[in-house]
Amino acid sequence: MSSQTIPNGLMQRAYLTPNRVAVETSQTSLTFQELHKRVQKVAQQLSFNGVKQDDTIALYMKNRVEFIEILHAVSYIGARLLLVNTRLTNEEINYQLTDANVSLLIADETFLMREFQSSITQLTLPALKSSPEAETDFQKTWNLEETFTIMYTSGTTGHPKGVLQTYGNHWWSSVGSALNLGLNEKDCWLIAVPLFHISGLSILMRSVFYGMKIILEERFEARAVNEAIENKEVTIISVVTSMLSNMLDELGERKYPHTFRCMLLGGGPAPLTILEACVNKEIPVYQTYGMTETSSQFVTLSPEDSLRKLGSAGKPLFPCAMKIVDEKGNETSEAGEIIVKGPNVTKGYLNKPEATEKALQQGWFYTGDIGKVDEEGFLYVLDRRSDLIISGGENVYPAEIENVLLKHPAVKEAGVTGVGDEKWGQVPAACIVVNEDVSDEELSLHIQQFLAKYKLPKYFVRVEELPRTASNKIIRRKLSSFIQKRS
Ligand code: ATP
Ligand code: MG
Repeated sequence: MSSQTIPNGLMQRAYLTPNRVAVETSQTSLTFQELHKRVQKVAQQLSFNGVKQDDTIALYMKNRVEFIEILHAVSYIGARLLLVNTRLTNEEINYQLTDANVSLLIADETFLMREFQSSITQLTLPALKSSPEAETDFQKTWNLEETFTIMYTSGTTGHPKGVLQTYGNHWWSSVGSALNLGLNEKDCWLIAVPLFHISGLSILMRSVFYGMKIILEERFEARAVNEAIENKEVTIISVVTSMLSNMLDELGERKYPHTFRCMLLGGGPAPLTILEACVNKEIPVYQTYGMTETSSQFVTLSPEDSLRKLGSAGKPLFPCAMKIVDEKGNETSEAGEIIVKGPNVTKGYLNKPEATEKALQQGWFYTGDIGKVDEEGFLYVLDRRSDLIISGGENVYPAEIENVLLKHPAVKEAGVTGVGDEKWGQVPAACIVVNEDVSDEELSLHIQQFLAKYKLPKYFVRVEELPRTASNKIIRRKLSSFIQKRS
């Protein structure tokens, strides 16, 4: 069977609509043609530095135009790119560089001082940019089954795993997103999420497939982002909950212009309070569910359902299928594990045949997340399977309790986990970061207004901060040590 190919994304885009703006930053603006020219040069400079077809090189870089140039240059050579989360420790980065057998690491000049794996050749951006150019055989087509990018999961469940993302995964992810959100020639997607996450990378891929302008922010800053939406005709932005809540605070009484059509909210659970605040301010918020392994969104709430189904992550994108299964793998209408199938799902984890075999069964990817589908087919993501608490035979979802805790004005952050209990097997316990003093009694009364008694945490432990991954997700399995230490 011959594999399917499409033209190289950026080359084709530069041919189709050369003069459209591809990317704008606070410093520069490039058309697709200009970007293509720069990428050709960078590809030749990478070749000079020994990068060949099928090599894996790593990129350790903040959000900047050169990130985009290097990403595409790697595809012009036919190599693979490992995107490194810049917030990780040296030890975590070394693990990835070794695991992925990286031959060359390209880093921002600001990160020069870090000691990465000594056996790996390191090149700073200025060194790359001043390298001579070597003759290079550009790859004019993309084989959809070939791996293009490698990205490690955030590691809430243990060691991060290297996810293989193919050209086809990115292509289909972009197609699926456009079929749901629609595509408009005036679209402009603002990136204030890291490019080394699938949330950011997927926007770069959409930009070339759609011929769409992106505005790239070096980092998230609520004021700058709100101003860009108000004054720069941004139509879509991808956010996580903490970004959205800062944006709402900064926005105050102002409203976004009607040209702004989509606030894509994903990456983790979204408290209802935030979604309701968006409805009140007429912000077109779209909840979405996805992961590194599905090359970004997999399930998204369509515009017409966003108000009616507040709190739901929606239905799968057009090319994708989803089921909820019980412990035995049988489809169920109750809460169960979310399994997904589709052309944007990874072909597996790098060097982890066992983890791959466990996650991918008969074409279905087992997400490790628990969800429930309502009678109309809308998904509600409940929690991670590994964080589920079983108390006296009842399933208790930490996220549900955290959501209720967050409704209390004194609670700034909340993390819930299960602790051993003689009578019930396990009971929930909460770690909280508070804004102001609040008694356990008051918190208990607050929770009992919303939740059944067996969901009431046995302990409330005040902590300075919650343990989080480099992607800012709570590592619930680490909460139990706080609870054991409680005074
Ligand atoms: P690891 O797999 O190493 O533990 P991770 O799963 O946090 O890391 P990512 O791929 O970055 O790494 O995150 C995807 C996960 O984020 C999903 O599997 C899910 O648990 C959570 N998530 C994403 N979107 C939502 C959502 N809308 N509601 C609830 N949880 C979500
Ligand atoms: Mg995961």
